[in-house]
Amino acid sequence: MTIREELERRERTYLSPFAVCSADTQGRDYPIAPDDLRTQFQRDRDRILHCKSFRRLKFKTQVFISPEGDHFRTRLTHTLEVAQVARTLARCLNLNEDLTEAIALGHDLGHTPFGHCGERMLDKLSVEGFAHNEQSLRVVEVLEGGEGLNLTKEVRDGILHHSGKVAPATLEGKCVARADRIAYINHDIDDALRAGVLKEFELPGEILRVLGETHGQRIDTLIRDIVCESKDRNDIVMSDRVQSAFDELRTFMFEKVYFDSWRHKEEAKCDYVIRMLFEYFMEHPSEMPLEYVQIAYRDGNERAVIDYLACMTDRYALRTFQQLFSPSAFPVI
Ligand code: MG
Repeated sequence: MTIREELERRERTYLSPFAVCSADTQGRDYPIAPDDLRTQFQRDRDRILHCKSFRRLKFKTQVFISPEGDHFRTRLTHTLEVAQVARTLARCLNLNEDLTEAIALGHDLGHTPFGHCGERMLDKLSVEGFAHNEQSLRVVEVLEGGEGLNLTKEVRDGILHHSGKVAPATLEGKCVARADRIAYINHDIDDALRAGVLKEFELPGEILRVLGETHGQRIDTLIRDIVCESKDRNDIVMSDRVQSAFDELRTFMFEKVYFDSWRHKEEAKCDYVIRMLFEYFMEHPSEMPLEYVQIAYRDGNERAVIDYLACMTDRYALRTFQQLFSPSAFPVI
């Protein structure tokens, strides 16, 4: 028996009847020979971790645009926090932790520069519309390595449906969708306090009494509640009391941090950068890197420019903007 077969045997023995066993995967578009050491979902996790889009998450905005401070979250640290919360849920509920981790690490690969502000702008500019979860799927199916990462269907489903109206097909995917919200609401509070746009006393007291006074306590309450309510159930749910406190906290964050007026000035600049880059590369598609020129031949200019812009990090977008639109030193003859 190989190590992988032993791991598959353990999954069958110990996982919940609602979990997805890796041996039961619906498979990949292009079948590959089984590995001796790793299960299918472990291989997917490794494929995601080693791809270029994953490394670029380091320089993409979470909430604070191109943050100068070393302690602010980026898309990469957000992704790692989501993976931690999701794995804790999966382990406590006897779900497939490897599948959960693969989905969590891949969920935001399609995120744009400048966070949701960049996403809204690309949505406005694109005739087809743009959503980061759909782009994450496009990254793993098409853009990475020229022909995609060839991931299993369960991982791709979890990535696509971590946000949006359709729920993921697996409980592991649902754990990631919950973990994403738990992670971002809580770490964005922490970052907003650090940036001084939120003061401790402004956090609604009623909500803190239910969820906890500190960052750690709140995450603990949310995880415990989900574990308690979802044990031996074919769903991932919260109790009404904790769910409504969490919803109120989310509404508070949207009003106070995500859409507050302090952001408007900087976001208008980000919109401008994205719009100018979009218009420039629509007119000069051959100036994009070769992989995007090839997409332009195959799928049209707009698809290629949107892919190119979505892949950019904050600093790459700003550097490209500067190179194209800001005069540099030149010799005077
Ligand atoms: Mg996320």
